Amino acid sequence: YNAKSQSSGVSIYNQHQDSHSPRRLQLMAELGVAIRDEQLALYYQPKIELTSQKCIGFEALIRWKHPTLGMIPPAEFINLAEMSNTIHALSLWVLEHAIMQLKKWHELGIYLPIAINLSARNLINQSLPEVIKRLLQDYQVDAKWLEIEITESAFISDPERAESVTREISRLGIALSIDDFGTGYSSLSYLKRLPIQTLKVDRSFVGGMLLNKQDAAIVRSTIGLAHSFGLTVVAEGVEDKETLDAITELNCEHAQGYFICRPAPEDQIVTWYYSQQNV
Ligand code: C2E
Ligand code: MG
Ligand code: MG
Ligand code: MG
Repeated sequence: YNAKSQSSGVSIYNQHQDSHSPRRLQLMAELGVAIRDEQLALYYQPKIELTSQKCIGFEALIRWKHPTLGMIPPAEFINLAEMSNTIHALSLWVLEHAIMQLKKWHELGIYLPIAINLSARNLINQSLPEVIKRLLQDYQVDAKWLEIEITESAFISDPERAESVTREISRLGIALSIDDFGTGYSSLSYLKRLPIQTLKVDRSFVGGMLLNKQDAAIVRSTIGLAHSFGLTVVAEGVEDKETLDAITELNCEHAQGYFICRPAPEDQIVTWYYSQQNV
């Protein structure tokens, strides 16, 4: 079981991937408490419009500030939340906090949309659209300020149910994006049926496009596909000026990435936002 103690010196055991590792079991057991005790935080990353370089919205990205283990990235606990069904409470927490943030920013005069990420598992919950509607009403925030990112995998296990939930969310006036586009194994047929506004090209392709012809071809074709469907494109993971120029050249509308701004807590993002306004 414990490959680390084997004598070869080369370990293929990765405790972060093993759902039975002590750390994973600990995190899984503590996640419910983390939600109740507000150990979670939303970081925000701006998205810009390439033609104007202006900020056009933010993506909310969850973090777990664990009392003893420190900052834990979502890659380490989202799938645990999915496995343990805590994902429903977690996404509710994310929704409510993103909506509270919108309210707060509106009071500061900042009117830009916030996109949240939902898991595939959330889209089999048929009460989700009603829950979102209620939250928006409670905080008096118009649905047009909230956006939702979902991955292609959402339409694999129970496509009919996921599609009907997606359609109801869209009917509330919430824009939907397909996240990490091109990394799933799903068919493209959902693009014909679903009320989607945006494709987000996965950062693995964007990050590789200047060095790798295949990555560049995938970025170019995704932009072409999106435009022929009337969708806008966000390039994620833009880490340098050269990549920013390359996607601008390909008529990609929006971009996100460390080169523009790293995800950060709300106060730092507000500071970034005001400094951008003055350039
Ligand atoms: P994602 O939705 O595709 O988010 C983009 C990820 O890329 C974020 O990682 C962001 O910090 C990172 N990123 C942004 N720009 C760059 C860049 O230029 N270079 C590099 N190397 N990375 C960049 P993060 O915050 O660790 O989130 C990872 C994933 O976890 C997200 O991928 C999303 O699938 C999931 N996630 C995050 N927050 C939530 C949440 O509230 N709910 C759910 N269900 N999933 C979430
Ligand atoms: Mg996302
Ligand atoms: Mg993404
Ligand atoms: Mg991703």
